[in-house]
Amino acid sequence: ARKPIIVGNWKMNKNNAETKAFFEKVDAVAATDTATYGIGAPFTDLRTALDNAKNLIVAAENCHFEDSGAFTGEVSVPMLEELGIKWCIIGHSERRQMFGDTDETVNKKAHRLIKAGITPILCIGETEEQYDAGQSAQVIKDELKGSLADLAPEAVAKMVIAYEPIWAIGTGKSASVEIAENCCKTVRDTVRELFGDQAADEVRIQYGGSVKPNNVEEYMAQPDIDGALIGGASLKEDSFIEIIEKTK
Ligand code: 13P
Repeated sequence: ARKPIIVGNWKMNKNNAETKAFFEKVDAVAATDTATYGIGAPFTDLRTALDNAKNLIVAAENCHFEDSGAFTGEVSVPMLEELGIKWCIIGHSERRQMFGDTDETVNKKAHRLIKAGITPILCIGETEEQYDAGQSAQVIKDELKGSLADLAPEAVAKMVIAYEPIWAIGTGKSASVEIAENCCKTVRDTVRELFGDQAADEVRIQYGGSVKPNNVEEYMAQPDIDGALIGGASLKEDSFIEIIEKTK
């Protein structure tokens, strides 16, 4: 059985004081063996988050694939490793759309993270235009093929893959439970095709896009949805606590 995993993605929100206040309030609620709960935070908040996390896992929201060099403004995997980071979001659609991330660079990041023993949370998902054109499954397959290229099946088995349809992110227009399950199943079927049964059976797949306390349970009840990646509803202590309490 796959352990559920629910991660908040703060994006470019919260300073150190706000991070400390959030963890002081929420961390104790996340104490359970039945599911994994965590927060993806800006680089500047990671030290504070780690220092205040006993139960929540702490993820970086990005990394660079090179270890060091002339890459102004970037943060390397060894830098994250030194902080004690064990999880890292890669390929979020906001990075793909605004900061030039591609399947190829996301794949390089995945390889470097896995080499460091950091678990990637790989994001994929189609645009509204692609959705309207009936291309969701093809986009999912292509992004997985590119982003997971040449990884070992045992590494893919330990990863988290977040299916986030771009039209559902921050719009309040969440995907129906049926669409979310179908697409997460497409993710699992594609992993099976590319990496075999063990990777497909063990990889944890999240749905993301306007997940809230009032809809999280119906997603989690689906056979191929093992968790959620949550933006807006992870920013307020009370709503993230409600999400934890409804799913643990
Ligand atoms: P929202 O939950 O705000 O729609 O954001 C989803 C997301 O992008 C998580 O990575």
